[in-house]
Amino acid sequence: MSESARALTVNGRTYAWPRRPLVVVCVDGCEPDYLTRAVAAGAMPWLGPARARGTDRLADCVIPSFTNPNNLSIVTGAPPAVHGICGNYFWDADAGVEVMMNDPKYLRAESILAAFSRAGAAVGVVTAKDKLRRLLGEGLRLGAEGSAVCFSSERAAETTGAEHGLDGAAAWLGRPVPSVYSAELSEFVFAAGVKLMETRRPDLLYLSTTDYVQHKHAPGTRDANAFYQMMDGYLARLDALGATVALTADHGMNGKTDAAGRPQVIYLQDLLDGWIGAARARVILPITDPYVVHHGALGSFATVHLPGGADVAGCMGRIAAIAGMEVVLDRDEACRRFELPKDRMGDVVAVSRRDWVIGTSEARHDLSGLDAPLRSHGGISEQRVPLIVSRPAPALPADARLRNFDIYDVALNHAA
Ligand SMILES: [Zn+2]
Repeated sequence: MSESARALTVNGRTYAWPRRPLVVVCVDGCEPDYLTRAVAAGAMPWLGPARARGTDRLADCVIPSFTNPNNLSIVTGAPPAVHGICGNYFWDADAGVEVMMNDPKYLRAESILAAFSRAGAAVGVVTAKDKLRRLLGEGLRLGAEGSAVCFSSERAAETTGAEHGLDGAAAWLGRPVPSVYSAELSEFVFAAGVKLMETRRPDLLYLSTTDYVQHKHAPGTRDANAFYQMMDGYLARLDALGATVALTADHGMNGKTDAAGRPQVIYLQDLLDGWIGAARARVILPITDPYVVHHGALGSFATVHLPGGADVAGCMGRIAAIAGMEVVLDRDEACRRFELPKDRMGDVVAVSRRDWVIGTSEARHDLSGLDAPLRSHGGISEQRVPLIVSRPAPALPADARLRNFDIYDVALNHAA
């Protein structure tokens, strides 16, 4: 069968069969300035020229600008309204419980990776944290079903051929499993990606890092540049192995402090409790996950479930008047504007400004683990991300608004 005949349509978009291996890297929390500053400092000798000869664009990530919604958008080529993953948590009003969305049963769309795996392509996925691994691996032909590989750095010591497509990934790579709070967790992803390219040569390889470094270190700082220098060396090796290297991010990252470095937090649950009575409204922060040490579960996006009969417009007006708030929308408008699933959002969506975050109650956020001024994401202010492909895409319209989830379209359909 010819390559064009093997083009696949996934979630309404058609993708050409890869002519050579394609590596898509989702660099967690990669504000575009990280790359600009690292290249300017001479820390990315591969990326600088690769950007110049390839495709170098900016794109918008999906809102909320959080990790899981964006990783799932990138691999499905679609917004959360289609794939269903709009955060780490949603509030199931019927059951009266907060539901964690790490389980693939909450995923409503097939990924591009799964569709190609099903069609016989060799597919590899390596993530830093295990929370993404099952969502990204859903539908891959793993173990007895096929040749796909999907594992996380975090659990690389425990992988099996049946579940992950590779026995003992840490021993196979010859590296110890790093701490979940470290730059090395991401380096492990890149090292594993290079070894997979050397040994199995997947048609599609998806690498997803963690934003531990970006939460602590601003663009251009010594530690940030060291991280990007590490990454650059692995990207150069993937390129030298003949792969197309494509890079984007799940979201940007900004300082969320005042001039003195103190966190600027809107404790929205406390305010609502004062306005309409204790615990009558429920504030959901979709950033909340089991790994909160580096951001205290504080981001720039919240959704609020109001009690039946509440004055939604009145509450929205009061929330919008809070210092540090950027946008307050009702459910319908938020889901239309941000392409979110209505059944997983509250009555109100609130987005804070660039240097502010939203919390629930002050007593529920432990900021004692923050050993650097708070940096976080979630808002519209973290929407701009890089979209870079190591090959040129001359037919791609120069003025087209790109989304980070266009990267498979750009790399497979447009890049030479
Ligand atoms: Zn992230």
